[in-house]
Amino acid sequence: PAPAAPAAVAVAAPAPVITGTLVKVNVSLPEAAKRAAATGADGVGLLRIEHLILGLNKTPGWYVEHGEEEKFISELYSGIKTVLDAFPGKSVWVRTLDAPTDEFRNMEGGEVEPVEHNPMLGWRGIRRDLRSPEQFRMQVEAFKRLWAAGYSNLGVMFPLVNHPAEFVQARAMMKEWGVNVENVTLGVMIEVPSSAILIEDFIKAGIKFASFGTNDLIQYTLAIDRNNEHVADMYEPEHPAVLRLIDYAIKACREHGVECSICGQAGSDPDMVAWLVGHGITSVSANIDAVPRIREAVARKERQILLDAARRNA
Ligand code: PEP
Ligand code: MG
Repeated sequence: PAPAAPAAVAVAAPAPVITGTLVKVNVSLPEAAKRAAATGADGVGLLRIEHLILGLNKTPGWYVEHGEEEKFISELYSGIKTVLDAFPGKSVWVRTLDAPTDEFRNMEGGEVEPVEHNPMLGWRGIRRDLRSPEQFRMQVEAFKRLWAAGYSNLGVMFPLVNHPAEFVQARAMMKEWGVNVENVTLGVMIEVPSSAILIEDFIKAGIKFASFGTNDLIQYTLAIDRNNEHVADMYEPEHPAVLRLIDYAIKACREHGVECSICGQAGSDPDMVAWLVGHGITSVSANIDAVPRIREAVARKERQILLDAARRNA
């Protein structure tokens, strides 16, 4: 028989517990926006714009070279707008361009892309934009028009940052181009160990959010090429060094009230997500098909956290 419930239990004020984790969704193509929204996700934790741009079959440099910036800007504007329209009132974090040069090589304009031995360690992410201001500016112009059109739920996320100075420089460029940087949401991806180690400095520099790009964070922490089948078995999302970096960065974000999220593939793994929720992550962003099981994993973990806290305080 079930034990009789105590008649009256003096419950001390519960210890602070971590709940309310948002479950967001990753989107790579505007055509998937409706399907993504139908999951009931709490926003978009990563909107990749690479596919949109690679689909144009001309490099960003080509548009600059041919004075066709307006065409690029309007394609980007309408692609992002489709996603924003599917998520009214929910935050949508758009990541600035992050394609390695080898993916541009076969496109029109690709012949001027540098040939690199290690494209994943090369001319990509924020470093490309900072050194190609005319290409960065086209993206910023699309964002600026969306903010001006009232899409205040649009946030912008910079990939592959490894020093807060890159964030500061990107924001200064946006300001110079007319963005009211105090009023918009700008954050970074944590996908290089240096950015996890320097998280406090990123927070001091004014990031509004940080999101773990674990696909890259794992590869760069462990020196395991994420696309190399010969070492695939050593690509360990739960390697203690990876977890320690993540834990360190989550703690700093929590302490300073900065939203901390994940948009890498590990955010679609229920066990990893349970671990992240237990360590205080404030949101997770999963692939469209994974959203239901991630919602369930989050709810289960939060229930366990609440029960543990209640028992401790009973
Ligand atoms: C990541 O690195 O985890 C990430 C989300 O970015 P991408 O997979 O596009 O490199
Ligand atoms: Mg990445």
